[in-house]
Amino acid sequence: MDRLWEQVQGALMQSLGAQNFEIWIRPIRLSNLTPHAVHLQVPNRYYRDWVQANYGPTMTDAFGRALGHGVELHFEIASEQAPVLAEADRPPQGSGLASQVDEGEFLEGPPLPPVLDEGRPPTEEVARSHASSTIGVSPDKVFDNFVVGASNQFAHAAALAVADQPGESQYNPLYIYGGTGLGKTHLLHAIGNEVRRRDPSARILYVTAEQFTNELIDALRYRRMSNFREKYRRWPAVLLMDDVQFLTGKDRTQEELFHTFEWLKERGRQIVFTSDVLPREVHGFEPRLRTRCESGMLADMQPPDLETLVAILHQKAADLGLDVTPDVARFLAARVRGNVREIEGLIKRLSALCKLHQAQPTIAFARLHLGNVLADEPHSVDAQEVIKAVASLFNVRVEDLMGSRRQRQLVRPRHLSMWLVREHTDLSFPDIGRVFGKDHATIHHACKKVAGDLPNDADLRGAVAAIRRSLGLA
Ligand code: ADP
Ligand code: MG
Repeated sequence: MDRLWEQVQGALMQSLGAQNFEIWIRPIRLSNLTPHAVHLQVPNRYYRDWVQANYGPTMTDAFGRALGHGVELHFEIASEQAPVLAEADRPPQGSGLASQVDEGEFLEGPPLPPVLDEGRPPTEEVARSHASSTIGVSPDKVFDNFVVGASNQFAHAAALAVADQPGESQYNPLYIYGGTGLGKTHLLHAIGNEVRRRDPSARILYVTAEQFTNELIDALRYRRMSNFREKYRRWPAVLLMDDVQFLTGKDRTQEELFHTFEWLKERGRQIVFTSDVLPREVHGFEPRLRTRCESGMLADMQPPDLETLVAILHQKAADLGLDVTPDVARFLAARVRGNVREIEGLIKRLSALCKLHQAQPTIAFARLHLGNVLADEPHSVDAQEVIKAVASLFNVRVEDLMGSRRQRQLVRPRHLSMWLVREHTDLSFPDIGRVFGKDHATIHHACKKVAGDLPNDADLRGAVAAIRRSLGLA
């Protein structure tokens, strides 16, 4: 059996090249051989899918030639084999997870082979990055293709700071929160990619809270806690955990996560969390974990304003090689307010349609072909409604917002209403000027001021969110 496997490996090395061979074939073990079948053991599902899809026929051929007759390949996943129960690996009865941590297990040693992430699309590029120093990090989500605007500027800056100096205590942990589709996951991967770009040997682990939970449950069930802790404690220099709101109420998971966190933080390793809500709003979040997050860096992400959405739309269109004029971009952006993911879908569809019809993406074309997916006139609030909502939130009179009195408590809401009108209506600066009885330069100035203040002013962002909610815009 060994000789056969050697012979086949030799042939595969020839046909696949040394590098592919090292990544994909070397980790495979020949576990059994029957007259018509070859059983191969691979590290995980991810590997299996990729190898099967890409090298299945080549491997079948190689075995066929070596054996002189056709065979079928069966892939088995090593981790699904019955676990070998080491006595020391068994959790002591009746004790919390914390007491099971044996520091000795995690003393620094030679780097562990990376564990491949499962369930990601097996592109070779992703796989290659996994085969080196990152787990789960998508190479295509980077800072370079993340569009920065007032709504995400703070989170972006915090993410950059972390990538610049991972483990620095002021930003450890970094906790990024905001609604769905706003770019939290993108930023998480961007941190991973940037750390890796600067230090290709840095070990970076991206995981969703859900995956962490599932792996923990498996580890407990199959008594593989030491493997689990190797992966989550000893291995990563940077742990990126997505969607911690899904930890809700899972006591053991939270306890394990807390100790993982403490362990990493003590050693100056970086942790970044994302969530759709604040730490105190994650239902049943382990209180110690909550206070740790609150004492680290909290960074919120708001729905992008129109300008940012337009910029994102341009970016996504450029990625697809689609040329979109500014007025088309604005037309589309105004009809998918808030959610970036929607924009991506829309632009992909538009690109496909343009190819199909060999047409340019004009507004008329978009109206005609995307009519069913575009909200008709979704954000049809008018200037008066916006001003009323602002007045009511700040407890001032509508006339005062429209007037010229320069008291501080009026100037701020006035500027904010100008900015919101610009954001949520089709009115131009001169149009808005007419509403407020000001010239267009004043409006322009006010809008710029608000956009500039937003990233650094959590109160202002809170006010914007509240007004948008009251207008049914968020
Ligand atoms: P979240 O994790 O907050 O739900 P994602 O990070 O998954 O959101 O973002 C949804 C999609 O929108 C992703 O494909 C992401 O690349 C894209 N996206 C979000 N924000 C931006 C941005 N500011 N610039 C470029 N792409 C973005
Ligand atoms: Mg996400």
